[in-house]
This record gives sequence, structure tokens and C-alpha cells, in this order.
Amino acid sequence: MVDFRMLREQMVSEQLVARGVADDLVLNAMRRVPREEFVRPSSRMNAYDDHPLQLDHGQTISQPYIVALTLEAAALTPEDVLLDVGTGSGYAAAVAAEVVRRVISIERHAALAETARAVLKRLGYSTVDVVVGDGTLGYPSEAPFDAIVAAAAGPKIPAPWVEQLRANGRIVMPVGEQRFGQTLIRALKDPSGAIRRQTLGAVTFVPLIGEHGISDR
Ligand code: SAH
Repeated sequence: MVDFRMLREQMVSEQLVARGVADDLVLNAMRRVPREEFVRPSSRMNAYDDHPLQLDHGQTISQPYIVALTLEAAALTPEDVLLDVGTGSGYAAAVAAEVVRRVISIERHAALAETARAVLKRLGYSTVDVVVGDGTLGYPSEAPFDAIVAAAAGPKIPAPWVEQLRANGRIVMPVGEQRFGQTLIRALKDPSGAIRRQTLGAVTFVPLIGEHGISDR
């Protein structure tokens, strides 16, 4: 029997705390979510490895550190409503749901969304809504959001996200059009509506495909 709880603790101390993740809300969330439930059955033993893993449809579940870094940068609080773009496995949505009040998670692949929805339901994540669609359009019916995070890289911050972000809201997304090597950025919307951008570091994500992202043609 593999002791996933021990692997999870080890992941938190060796991959997150050791690299400077310090937000206790995020660290405790990462201690609680069973990542092995979100990976393909053949990857369960590697669920806590320090790298991304393949999902179906050519997509990936992000490396644990990248999930933690993104959610820490989003400065989440328990009152927040979060838009999570790129549900994939649903793992990042589950970690976020351990912190915030509500998560709207949007995925363009209906089959991935369906699998994620089933896992989240089985594990009792009732505050996550998984929707199928183009996340570059945001999700106007549930806006405004306190934070928007993306697990896919686009050329620039989609304009609808800025519109759908509350004052003092945060966007964390990888920006860049290269297949390998983009920049993780944090954008803050100040009360006047102006956007202030900060660079967090070099990352590699799958492309953000959509109307305000990368064209699929
Ligand atoms: N957060 C996920 C990581 C998934 S990888 C996890 O924890 O597993 C990124 C996902 O973004 C992929 O599943 C991809 O299909 C999706 N994606 C890409 N462009 C998108 C868009 N415009 N809208 C919604 N999802 C998108």
C-alpha cells in the first residue's frame, strides 16, 4: 500500500515550502487534496512527483509547485469567488475550493470537464462548478470575480477577464505565444480600474485556445 498522505506531506515540505511558498491557506489546501484521484490510473504512483503529468486529450495536470505558486500569487481569501480557466483534471480547482467560497472552473474539452466534474463530486467538492466553454471569454453570468487564474498560456490578458474582475482583484496567468517558455504574470486591478502587472517567473503551460487567446485554426 502506498501512503499517499505521507507523499503529500513530503511534496508540501520538499517542493513547496522549500521553494518559498508560505501562504498557509494554500499549503494546508495542498495537504488536503488527494492528487492521486485526479491523475490517470497509470500515474497514481507518480501523483506527487515534482513535474506535470499527462492527462487525456494531450493536456496536463500542472506540477504541484506551479499550482501552489499560482494560487499563492492570486492572494485568495475565504470570501473569494474564483474563476479557474482550464479545469483539466480539476485538481487546481479542488485546491482552490479548499481556500475560497466558490470556484467556477471552465474547460474547453467537454470530456475532460466531465471527468473532472465526476471526481470533484465524488470527493465532495460541492462549491466547484465545472462549465464547458471558451474561458478566454470569462464567465459573465457569475462575474465579478475576486480572482482569475489560468493554467494555459495566451498572448495577453484576455480583455473580458479585466472587465469581469472586481476592484482589487487579481489575475494570474502564463503569458507568451511560444510552446515552451512563457512568463507567469500577476495583474492587479486597482480601484480606478487600472491594471498593474508583475512578473513571477518562467513557466511552460499548454496553449490557451480561444477567441481572446490562441486561435485553434
Ligand atoms: N488546472 C488543471 C491544468 C489543466 S491544463 C489541473 O489542475 O489539472 C490546462 C487546461 O486548459 C487544458 O485542459 C485545456 O484543455 C484547457 N484550456 C485551454 N484553453 C482553454 C480555454 N480557452 N478555455 C477553457 N479551457 C481551456
